Amino acid sequence: MTERIFNFSAGPATLPLSVLEEAQQEFLNYKGSGMSVIEMSHRSKEYEAINAGAEAVIKELLGLGDDYRVLFVQGGASSQFAMIPMNFLGEGQIADYILTGAWAEKAQKEATKFGQTHIAATTKEGNYARIPQLDEIKLSEKPAYVHITSNNTIFGTQWKQFPDYGDIPLIADMSSDILSKPFDASKFALIYAGAQKNLGPSGVTVVIIRKDLIEQGNKNIPTMLRYDTHSKNDSLYNTPPSFSVYMVGLVAQWIKKQGGLTAIAKHNEEKAALIYDTIDNSGGYYTGHAEKDSRSLMNLTFRLPNEDLEKAFNSEATKAGLSGLKGHRSVGGMRASIYNAMPREGCQALADFMKEFQKKNG
Ligand code: PMP
Repeated sequence: MTERIFNFSAGPATLPLSVLEEAQQEFLNYKGSGMSVIEMSHRSKEYEAINAGAEAVIKELLGLGDDYRVLFVQGGASSQFAMIPMNFLGEGQIADYILTGAWAEKAQKEATKFGQTHIAATTKEGNYARIPQLDEIKLSEKPAYVHITSNNTIFGTQWKQFPDYGDIPLIADMSSDILSKPFDASKFALIYAGAQKNLGPSGVTVVIIRKDLIEQGNKNIPTMLRYDTHSKNDSLYNTPPSFSVYMVGLVAQWIKKQGGLTAIAKHNEEKAALIYDTIDNSGGYYTGHAEKDSRSLMNLTFRLPNEDLEKAFNSEATKAGLSGLKGHRSVGGMRASIYNAMPREGCQALADFMKEFQKKNG
């Protein structure tokens, strides 16, 4: 294979070609430093600028001011499942979780190791095909925080409207839809995301956190698991995943060049519509897993009439240069992950392939 293909993998996922080319150009000699970013001391001026620049552009895209920090930590979004309750779930307190999929379940389960949790809503019945209505959510009396998963990578559902509980800290796992649309980030106390879907390569987790919350974190936990350690040291307490942070900065700059979150959201809506319209106009040949008003613009899940056809679809699609479409086993069928960096042409190619496949096999 000499040409790049359309990669619909859920993550690590496709990145903007222009960003890959930029990184390639700078790879051997970063801005005249005579060395690659991966060889560079994290205490150098060049790296400090990369680190500070990545924080600044993410804050700018989200419209956040001085009361927030963007931290770059390791351990994946999965480590945040533990770090959040370790820091913010105090003795005798209860943390509320809204269960909308397997990752939300994991986050909640991890929190039970550190304290008490309350399930404020769940859509497990019906295999997580929808996001709960806001009036279905029943909070505990005085939650330490409320945790949601903004986009459910496996099931293909996404929150369209976020809850607002005033002073109760709202925390979101945005691993699979961060920086994909505009929203009021100042309503969140903490947002976290593994970078490997919408932001860059794996190896770094982005934590966007309100400064007053950082101060409230538990001080009697390991140094590396305290948000204030990373905040006080500008994400440079220990050796950071420097190349990943550099790539996140480039991807965020790319989003800015596309016109920011409003422009990228419009693009994402158009891309998803190409595939959802194909599903909806297939006369029932393709069926979406998610209920229509909960459909994700990032991970599109659908089934074919039977598993044999699904296998054939996957293998023929792969041959046609459309890779990574096999769905997660808990949903079955297909999943097209079309994060920010998936070009419109990729979605058009998939929609065309779906129509052709139906014609041949329908
Ligand atoms: N949360 C969500 C919504 C995810 O999609 C994933 C990864 N697929 C995770 C958490 C886990 O992320 P990580 O592999 O970075 O720990």
